Amino acid sequence: MVKKIKVYLGSMSHNYACNGPFTHPLNLGYLSSYAMKYFSKPDELDIRLFVYPNDILDEINSDPPDILGLASYTWNDNLNLQILQHVKKVSPNTVTIMGGPNFNNYNLEEYFLKRPYLDYYIVNQGETGFLNLINSYSEGKLDKNSKEEISMDNVAFYNTFNKKVCIGDISKRYKELDVIPSPILDGTLDKFFKDKNLIPIIETMRGCPYTCTYCAWGDDWLRASNRFSLERVISEIEYIAKKFVSSKNKFNGYLYLADSNFGMHRRDAEIASKIRECHDKYNWPSSIWATWAKNSNEKVIEIASILKPLLQAGVTIAYESLDEKTLENVRRANISLEKFNKVREYIKSKGLKTHTDVILGLPGETKDTYLNGLRKVTDQKFDQVVTFNCRLLGGTEMNTPTYIEKHGIKTKYRMLTQGYGIYRGIKSVENEEVILSTSTMSQDEIILMRPVNWFLYLFWNNGYYVEFMKYMQQLGINPIDFILDLMDNLKNSKDKMGDLFAEFMKESEEEWYNSPEELYKDNSQIIDGKLKAENFAKLNAKYTSKVVFGFKEEMSKKLLEVSQKSINKIFDKDMFENKKDEIRDVINFCSEKSINISEIREKKLNNKHKYFIYDYPKWLKKDNGEADIQKYNGGININFYLSKEKLNRISEAMEIHNYKDIYEVHMKLIEVLHTDDLFYDTKTDGSDSTTISTAKDKGITNWSLES
Ligand code: SF4
Repeated sequence: MVKKIKVYLGSMSHNYACNGPFTHPLNLGYLSSYAMKYFSKPDELDIRLFVYPNDILDEINSDPPDILGLASYTWNDNLNLQILQHVKKVSPNTVTIMGGPNFNNYNLEEYFLKRPYLDYYIVNQGETGFLNLINSYSEGKLDKNSKEEISMDNVAFYNTFNKKVCIGDISKRYKELDVIPSPILDGTLDKFFKDKNLIPIIETMRGCPYTCTYCAWGDDWLRASNRFSLERVISEIEYIAKKFVSSKNKFNGYLYLADSNFGMHRRDAEIASKIRECHDKYNWPSSIWATWAKNSNEKVIEIASILKPLLQAGVTIAYESLDEKTLENVRRANISLEKFNKVREYIKSKGLKTHTDVILGLPGETKDTYLNGLRKVTDQKFDQVVTFNCRLLGGTEMNTPTYIEKHGIKTKYRMLTQGYGIYRGIKSVENEEVILSTSTMSQDEIILMRPVNWFLYLFWNNGYYVEFMKYMQQLGINPIDFILDLMDNLKNSKDKMGDLFAEFMKESEEEWYNSPEELYKDNSQIIDGKLKAENFAKLNAKYTSKVVFGFKEEMSKKLLEVSQKSINKIFDKDMFENKKDEIRDVINFCSEKSINISEIREKKLNNKHKYFIYDYPKWLKKDNGEADIQKYNGGININFYLSKEKLNRISEAMEIHNYKDIYEVHMKLIEVLHTDDLFYDTKTDGSDSTTISTAKDKGITNWSLES
């Protein structure tokens, strides 16, 4: 019998501290299906795909492969390198390869010399590079120590004999993507449908016409948008939906769209209609996550309205920055706020929510332009304003020596949330490289913006105090200005809230390391039987949970105290006195509406009944909190209760994320559930109207970049 070439491919996800959800390894599926189609002797190929570290390590230990290939991303870089090191120990003849976007195409000699256990890197179009490697291996020509200078398209390696890097043509791209067989339709990915923690993923096109310097899609080789045929995409959606219906154990209800700009092409409406048809007919997908075309227009909104029941984040118009100079530096052009204003009414008329992102630390941004940008997007009443620090990602223009020098970029490293684990004895800890100063923003200024982002996350994005924020906005106080007043107060407060704020600031200053090595050394220690990394949590979520569980009363007092200061800045003193009862009322409502999930765990959650001046649930539901609140006054009794559906959703999520520490559970629930799911349903006395959220899951937006 002919000896098969055994190839293990992994797209690793850290599942030590987190059950996901992760995505199906579509990337590996493409490599496998392509090789099986174009390799001359497919019967001699034995390709196995993996997503979990323990699974691939078990297979390596019991039956080492001839070739081991790992997909490299910022979230698994450390783990990949450790697995490669391990395989070289147990099976020195295994050929090791990596591929994927997390790769800088400069200083390659240094890159390979620092990683002696990595033999080859597949650059850009993965399918070509992978097939070239398999072909060379099967012909016995794969030798990085050879005297002869060989090069393969889409492959880079260090030739140890000639002491130089060899790299073939890396610029080629398939115009017609259908030359790559579908790993969904040919069954390559079938085994992953059994795993509820994995989300099916489809890709309708590759490439992005934009050039953002912080994004790997911004690279010039990806400029043209090449597409898979519409028939194929439609068949893939139908295939997954039917699989869902026929599976005994239902898999994850999400669908992840991998495109860089969904909605950019006219045909995307047909794709959206097919997704909607499957949702209505097969009950799959229940939610989708898509990166929308950047300059949202009527086309995108039409598509979003087709998909409305599946969208949690609504329409995304990612601004990233609102400063002209900064946008020029990062080579990005946005839809103007004026134009957005026009489409906004249309978006609202379709009953859709709006979402935007703003990045902290982009070159050219100053403290003032950043804050002004946030003021503008909150004035535009985006329902979600997700802020995050700028990361220096592999394979981006921003991560090149010239760019770094030009903009005075300095970075540090911090832990990647849940990016750690011990797998068959291998300790791994991931990091992210974050911009902490540029020639226009100092480290102190960037760190000072951290609580602004946290309060925006707590008050606005996660809705804990959104009615209060909107009330203040009606008085003419922008949420960002209120947050700045609150921070001023907290800096000098000697009370419990002041202490909590000081603790937050201390943690935000101490989470940085000068190098990945320093970070690894510190966080891979075992303390009290636990990996030190396990103590790390995203500060925004961690401190939000602290407020919700232990500081609600103090927060209420503080908000009232600070609102006096904010109001007195623009009105005469009578104004606060006139509004005091209303402010207290709206703060009380915010305090009452959030659920204490430990009461669910202990089966102690009770319904409650409270009196308020305004009908806040109706104000928010009917007018998104934008109409004059006076229209909703008159005194109202509100019943707070939990619908069966919501209780089921929370209980199910709590069962999956069953941590001992209730704070950890809450942090995870903030991530995976819809915002409204962590609030009571409400019903007013004498009315049938109820506000029950029908949301099933939160969009994966909250896999979140927010830190
Ligand atoms: S950030 Fe979005 S628009 Fe910009 S290059 Fe990346 S994918 Fe394209």
